[in-house]
Amino acid sequence: MLLENYEMNLPSYSIGPDIYKNIASKCSPYGKKIFIIGGKRALAAAKDKISDALTDSNFEITGIELFGKDCTYSNVERLRSMSAYKNADMIFAVGGGKCIDTCKNLCIPDDKPIFTFPTIASNCSACTCVSIMYNEDGTFLKPHFYLHPPVHAFIQTDILAQAPARYLWAGIGDTYAKYYEAEISSRNEQLQHFTALGVTLSRMCLDPLVQYAPKAYEDNKNGVNSYELEQTVLAIVVTTGIVSIFLTRDFTPDYNSGLAHAVFYALTSYPVIEEKHLHGEVVGFGLLIALLCDGQDEEFDKIYRLNQSINLPTKLSDIDITEAEFEEVMDRIPEMSDIRHYPYAITRSMLTSALTKLHTCQI
Ligand SMILES: [Zn+2]
Repeated sequence: MLLENYEMNLPSYSIGPDIYKNIASKCSPYGKKIFIIGGKRALAAAKDKISDALTDSNFEITGIELFGKDCTYSNVERLRSMSAYKNADMIFAVGGGKCIDTCKNLCIPDDKPIFTFPTIASNCSACTCVSIMYNEDGTFLKPHFYLHPPVHAFIQTDILAQAPARYLWAGIGDTYAKYYEAEISSRNEQLQHFTALGVTLSRMCLDPLVQYAPKAYEDNKNGVNSYELEQTVLAIVVTTGIVSIFLTRDFTPDYNSGLAHAVFYALTSYPVIEEKHLHGEVVGFGLLIALLCDGQDEEFDKIYRLNQSINLPTKLSDIDITEAEFEEVMDRIPEMSDIRHYPYAITRSMLTSALTKLHTCQI
C-alpha cells in the first residue's frame, strides 16, 4: 500500500540531572508568557527548580495551577477558560501521566506550545501523541490521538531519582510488555515502514530493562541517580513514546497492544485492580500469561526471573485476584480490543493451561 499524505512528528527531549538549565534557550522561540500546570507533589518537587532556571530571563509566569484529579474533558475545559491560560504563550505540564495527558488535550488542539516536565517515570506521556481520557467517575473513557507530541520534554533525573519508586517499578512492567506485544501482533506480516521501525525499536523497551531495571529500582528506592536509573527512565519515557507513535497510526491495524494489556483491561472489572495496583504492575503479570500462551518458554523464564527480582507479580494472589475470579475473566479476555489484531485466536483452554503452568512454575 502506498503512503498517502503521511506525516510523522517524533518526540524531542533532553535528559540529565540538571537539564532545567536549558529551559530558557529551548523555550524562548515560543514567546515569553508561561502558564504552569501541575500535580501537587510534582509542583512541590519541581516548581522551585523551574523558577530558578528562569531567573535572569525575560519569561513571565501567568499563573501556577493544579491540574485537577483526572484527565477528563470537563477538567480540560475548566483550564481552557482560565485567563492565565488564554494569556500564556506556552504551557509547562509538570507531573505524571494524568497531568501531562490533561495538558496535551488542552494545548495540542489549540496549537498552544506545550513543554512537559515528567516528575515520575511511569509511562511515556511526556513524549507521545495520545492522552488517555477518563469519565467523570474515574473510569477509562478512550484514547485521544494527536498529530504531534509535546514540543519538548525536560527529563530531570535528579527529580525522578527522588520520586516514589513504585511508579518506576510499574513502568518497567508496561515497558517490557511493549516489545513482546509489538513482536507478536506484527508476526508474519509485511509491515509498513513506520510499523517496521516501531517493532524494531521496541527491542529497546526490553533489553535495557533486563539489564538495568533491578539496580535502577534499588537506586530509586534510595533516592540516588545512576547510569542504570537513567537507562531505565529513557526506556520507559522516551523509547516507549517513540515506539507507540510509530505503532499507532489510524490507518493501520493496532500493533501497540496485545494479550498482556487484554488481561489487564479484563481484570479491571474487579475494583481491587485499580484501587490497589498500578497499570504496569498488572500488565507485567499479564505478560507472563501472554508468553505462556505464545509458547515462548525461554522468554517467560527471563521475565519471570525479572519480576521475581523486583517483586513484580508472578502469581494471581500478588494482584489480589482469586482463581475463581480469573476463571470468570477468561471469558472476557478473548473479547478485548487489545487482541483484535493478533496472529491467532486466544481461547479459554490456552488461558487455563497458561495459568496452570504459571502456578506450577519451579523457577
Ligand atoms: Zn500500558
